Amino acid sequence: IYNRYVDPTVGRPTHNDSSRQAPLPTSAPALQPSAPVLQTNQSNNTDNSNNKLEESGGAKHIDPKLIEMITSEIMELNLTTTWNDIAGLTDAKRSITEIVVWPMQRPDIFTGLRRPPKGLLLFGPPGTGKTLIGKCIASQSKATFFCVSSSSLTSKWHGESEKLVRALFAVARSRQPAVIFIDEVDSLLQERSENEDESTRRIKTEFLVQIDGASTQGEERILLIGATNRPQELDSAARRRFVKRIYIPLPDLSARQAIISNLLKDQKHTLTTQDMEHICTLTEGFSGADMHSLCHDAALGPIRDIHDIELLSSDEVRGISLDDFLKSLKAIRPSVSENDLKQYEDWNKTYGSI
Ligand code: ADP
Repeated sequence: IYNRYVDPTVGRPTHNDSSRQAPLPTSAPALQPSAPVLQTNQSNNTDNSNNKLEESGGAKHIDPKLIEMITSEIMELNLTTTWNDIAGLTDAKRSITEIVVWPMQRPDIFTGLRRPPKGLLLFGPPGTGKTLIGKCIASQSKATFFCVSSSSLTSKWHGESEKLVRALFAVARSRQPAVIFIDEVDSLLQERSENEDESTRRIKTEFLVQIDGASTQGEERILLIGATNRPQELDSAARRRFVKRIYIPLPDLSARQAIISNLLKDQKHTLTTQDMEHICTLTEGFSGADMHSLCHDAALGPIRDIHDIELLSSDEVRGISLDDFLKSLKAIRPSVSENDLKQYEDWNKTYGSI
């Protein structure tokens, strides 16, 4: 099934590749009135994104340093991820294609009743492909991808975070179609707690304002994707904004098989199809990321036998064997507990979309 399954990290574009630019919106909406005036246009700024913002009237309130940081660290153009890079998840892939990819490809058809949701939540155990799916949506929709994690927003950008959130949405508006992927969105939009500090509250408010701004502008082609391993921590305001909530579960047996055979396809190994099937039955409960760790550890098996690595020629390294996998299975264990899985399934029954 996965004969076209390739390593998604290969051929990853550089951040600054500007060979394909998203079309400029004819009239980008102004920023929220609350946006502080930071710095105005810098005449020597060579960043194309800033030029686009200026043309669309959105740069007046944005610090050019923030724009540059977003374009170099958060924005990715020309992603090449395809659905074949993601093993299993047939139902999720089908729904996502229908719910968000087609509408981004053909906004002229998906109007009125067919108008797509502006917010999509991907929830489930860590390491199951949520980020890969975000990238795939962006690449299939030919959209600019913005990927930011809540923890970096609240820690690394503490103090600047609100401005960064505003700048992020402004740059996305000037780079439509755009996908904004927020990892660990629960820590940004969680239920209010007693000890929530003022700045966390402000970032959250700004974020909700921006999401609402993006979703009321019918013409805008900005999709917000939130990813979380802890959906139960999202408050109801956040849940409401993510109209579609899709469960991304652990890979099933055939998906685990696809992951292993893909990872072994360019490696010297002695495993038969039956051996691979055997490994897959022993890896019930492993995430995609766990499967990668297992294969990586097993691939080191042949090297561990070697006494003097300096004297070894590369073709003397023996193939990876079933025994290497069985040894690695003693060290690499699933990272998700039964109890966690039950919580995802319960949340899916109550709030999930498929
Ligand atoms: P998440 O965002 O759900 O925590 P990622 O999408 O970052 O997980 O996946 C982490 C890594 O695990 C990926 O780079 C990939 O190598 C592997 N992986 C996870 N799920 C899959 C899958 N369904 N198919 C192929 N590889 C996967």
